[in-house]
Amino acid sequence: MSVTTPSAEPPGAQDSPHGPRRWVGLLVAVALVSGGVVYTVEDRERDARARSTATQTAPGPTQATKPSKTAAAIAARRVAIDTILLRRAQAVQTVNEALFLQDIDPADRSLRAEQKVLFANLVEIGFTELGYSQAEERFDPAVAKSHGRTTYLVRILMRYQIPKVDLTPVTSELGYTFINVRGRWVLTDDDDLDKDLGPGAHQEAWDLGRIEVHRAPRVLAVVEQGDTKRGRSIVAEATEALSQVTAYWPRKWRGSVFLIALDETDVRDARFADEDIESAASAGSTFSSLPGQDTADGTVAGAYIVVNPNERDRVDEILLSHEITHVATADLGGYEPLWLAEGAAEYVSWRGIEAISGPGEVGKWEQEVIDDALPALSSLPSDAGFYQNSADVYGVSWLAVRFLVRRLGLEKVEELYEDMAMHGIDQASRDRILFSRTGLNEVTLWTSLKTYQPQR
Ligand SMILES: [Zn+2]
Repeated sequence: MSVTTPSAEPPGAQDSPHGPRRWVGLLVAVALVSGGVVYTVEDRERDARARSTATQTAPGPTQATKPSKTAAAIAARRVAIDTILLRRAQAVQTVNEALFLQDIDPADRSLRAEQKVLFANLVEIGFTELGYSQAEERFDPAVAKSHGRTTYLVRILMRYQIPKVDLTPVTSELGYTFINVRGRWVLTDDDDLDKDLGPGAHQEAWDLGRIEVHRAPRVLAVVEQGDTKRGRSIVAEATEALSQVTAYWPRKWRGSVFLIALDETDVRDARFADEDIESAASAGSTFSSLPGQDTADGTVAGAYIVVNPNERDRVDEILLSHEITHVATADLGGYEPLWLAEGAAEYVSWRGIEAISGPGEVGKWEQEVIDDALPALSSLPSDAGFYQNSADVYGVSWLAVRFLVRRLGLEKVEELYEDMAMHGIDQASRDRILFSRTGLNEVTLWTSLKTYQPQR
């Protein structure tokens, strides 16, 4: 699963060696944002009530027409923008660049150039479904000042489905600024709202410059245009890694893997700008319903893999089998504890190493985890601070999964994983699931690890 850090997290919060990230703390951000929106709506309703009271008590020639004129203008704008959004989606589906560019502010040449690149990218991805809709209007005095009195800044929901990759349609966010030029609405900016959107918004694979798309039966990879050799090699490694996940993790996942390997440090929710970050790749969630949209947590649909630009040359099947394990379990719900998520991903990855180099290497590593990593911790690594922990939490998580596989068998561990991912919404649920399926709680699992002697 996957995990996503909000922009509010402190530096260093992303040192996931190859980790997905959770929307830890995002709930706070969502609550703040929704709070802001609620206030806005309430304010406007109060204003409207005040206006209508004023017109009732102070009769005048414009008393009835003024509010209805405003309402009519808002309704007309809504229809005009909906029509533009519909046209943009249609333009992509019918590969009609002129139609896509029709509603771009003619005065803004650089936006027009960027939108041409966006159009080409969207066409190349090849969505089976694509649509844009208006969420709520946002108010930003600076944006209004720079674009004039007709400025309409609106949060947009982009709903799309990439064939085979997205098993259901997924949603991402954008912010568009429209202005009215001589009676006609045009798009004049597409990044004014970016800083106020959720993690990774407007940083999808197609938003960041011209891409090249590579495909295999169950792999879709995006690289920079012209980076063809890398595109081919990543597809080959991912195909190999996928076969390992299929071989070593019992869940029958039939989806396709979407890998993004661009020369960009910030792609989706992955941020690799800090050179100290050793993370070579991360798997970040996609959402059929965004956090805060229908529920606080949102509904996870799956995950895409983003490769660290500085580590692109090191991407191999071992690394990718770890990330693909996250992808192949992402749509279960994402409520499993991190020790189980990372432990399972490491388990699959190490099974791949074992297949290549024999059991010696794995046994040696397992003993090192027991001798060095376990004593550095006093309990199973918790979700809080997992990716910031300087102890080898990945090794210990892997050991816990190895132990459970030895005790219960792989099938039962996989069932435990599914139950946790779907229902482990809080600690009490996790405790109940773990105990009912293993006879252990987190404390007795931990003490079992401390006395665990692997058979070799
Ligand atoms: Zn991971």
